[in-house]
Amino acid sequence: MSEPLITLTGDGLYCPQGAFHIDPWNAAQYAVVTHAHSDHARAGSTQYLGATPGLPLLQSRLGTDANIRVIPYGEVLERNGVRISLHPAGHVLGSAQVRLECRGEVWVVTGDYKLAVDPTCSPFEPVRCHTLITESTFGLPIYRWDSNSDLMSRINSWWQTNKAAGKTSVIYAYSLGKAQRLMASVDSSVGSIFTHGAVENVTRAYRQSGVALPPTYPVNEVAPRTKPWVGGLVIAPPSAASSPWAKKFEPASDAVASGWMQVRGTRRRKAVDRGFAVSDHADWPGLLTVIKESGASRVLATHGFAQVLARYLREQGLDAGVIATRYGDEEEGAELAAEGEG
Ligand SMILES: [Zn+2]
Ligand SMILES: [Zn+2]
Repeated sequence: MSEPLITLTGDGLYCPQGAFHIDPWNAAQYAVVTHAHSDHARAGSTQYLGATPGLPLLQSRLGTDANIRVIPYGEVLERNGVRISLHPAGHVLGSAQVRLECRGEVWVVTGDYKLAVDPTCSPFEPVRCHTLITESTFGLPIYRWDSNSDLMSRINSWWQTNKAAGKTSVIYAYSLGKAQRLMASVDSSVGSIFTHGAVENVTRAYRQSGVALPPTYPVNEVAPRTKPWVGGLVIAPPSAASSPWAKKFEPASDAVASGWMQVRGTRRRKAVDRGFAVSDHADWPGLLTVIKESGASRVLATHGFAQVLARYLREQGLDAGVIATRYGDEEEGAELAAEGEG
């Protein structure tokens, strides 16, 4: 192969043959976007391509006048001889892996992904390729998630206990994806679910896309004097933790839902009562499963513990390296909030 199908430019991952970027961090001519999180979907590009189920989310992130074309998962679009298709990544609604094929050579860029059960989006679909560019946010062997049902039953019993004690349960979770996964997965017969405005906005876009969610009550639309949230579950973004906004729920028990909560005994846990290691990223075994099922002979890790993952893969005999993108970690907000810094 003369030229790699994807290279790294100052603006992000770029396909020279197809003349398009994937999740560019600067404005580009043509941007293929894996999902609507702000570190992947940046405003300012001339044209966007995304997966159909994510359209309302992309519109709210990029603005309604952004030029966004969407294609269903699995449909092929050709650009300058490069066949582009998008495949479910299981991360959030509309999240996609990008498959590129040119002259028999296949590359896949995973974007963010997870294998865990999530009723609010299509499950991750393995895609075969020669070269895989994978995220590695939780690319350390210590990160192993408990099953979704175990995690949710722990959250349910925490909520039950708080309710019995006359307390409000406040859970901090990233407003795009994690919040909706929680509301769809908890036992909504325990009590009512209340939302912070930022969570409610995204929830509206999920409902608009046809995702079934239990009823939610925006905190700013209910009469505060009656304290209707007592015994209920309040879902708010990590930035609202230890804010004056959160004070009104007292007496309350608060918790953070983030993969970073897996590491016990660190200062991350101290600012809130509970931590639930619910992540929208793959854990270590999940990363290895996806890499194996891709059949890729070459793996480029990015985003997170890329060096550790790449070294491990080389020890297993794979051609592996690191590609230094600038994607942030949406769960970092939860980490900072738990530390009382945000
Ligand atoms: Zn993401
Ligand atoms: Zn990301």
